[in-house]
Amino acid sequence: MFGFLKQVGDYTKEAVSASQNIAQGLSVTFDHLRRRPITVQYPYEKLIPSERYRGRIHFEFDKCIACEVCVRVCPINLPVVDWVMNKATKKKELRNYSIDFGVCIFCGNCVEYCPTNCLSMTEEYELATFDRHSLNYDNVALGRLPTSVTSDPAVVALKEFAYLPKGEMDPHGVDPTRPRAGITKEELS
Ligand code: SF4
Ligand code: SF4
Repeated sequence: MFGFLKQVGDYTKEAVSASQNIAQGLSVTFDHLRRRPITVQYPYEKLIPSERYRGRIHFEFDKCIACEVCVRVCPINLPVVDWVMNKATKKKELRNYSIDFGVCIFCGNCVEYCPTNCLSMTEEYELATFDRHSLNYDNVALGRLPTSVTSDPAVVALKEFAYLPKGEMDPHGVDPTRPRAGITKEELS
C-alpha cells in the first residue's frame, strides 16, 4: 500500500513539473507573438539602412587634391593615393585612388577628415564576392553611384524601426505616406 502511494506521489510530482516546463516554454512563445517580426526574406525583401549607415565609400575623382589626409587619419593607412607632381603647375596630379574593402573597417575617418569632401559613405552593404582581392576598389569602382534599396523595383524595401510610424511594430506592408516616428535628416537641419 505504501509503495503504491509513493508511486502516485512521484507521478504527480513529475506531472506538475512537466506542466510547469510546458507553461514556461509557451510563455516564451506567446511573448514572442506580441513582438514585431524581424525576419527579412532576403533578397526579395531588404531593410532600408539608416541615414548614417556606414556602407561602401563613394569617391569623386575630380574633387581629390591628393593631399593624403585620408591615408594619415586611417587607422590602417588604407587608401592608396597614386599621384605625380606636375612640374609646370607645381601641383599634384592624381593618377589612381583605391580602397580595399576587404581590409577597411568602415570607421569613416577618411570621410570625416577629407578637406574637399570627395569621400562619402553610402548605404551600399552588399559587398560579397568569391575572391577577397576583388574588394580592392579602384577610383572607377569607387566612383560608381551606390545602389539604393528604395529605388530597386525588384525588392520590397522594409522599414527599419526608426522609419516606422509611431506605434507600428510590423515593417511589412506599411503605407509609405504615413509619417515616421524618427526625425529625418531634413528635420534635423
Ligand atoms: S583626403 Fe580627400 S582630397 Fe585628400 S587625398 Fe584623400 S580623398 Fe583626396
Ligand atoms: S573607413 Fe576607416 S578604415 Fe576604411 S579607409 Fe576610411 S579611415 Fe580607413
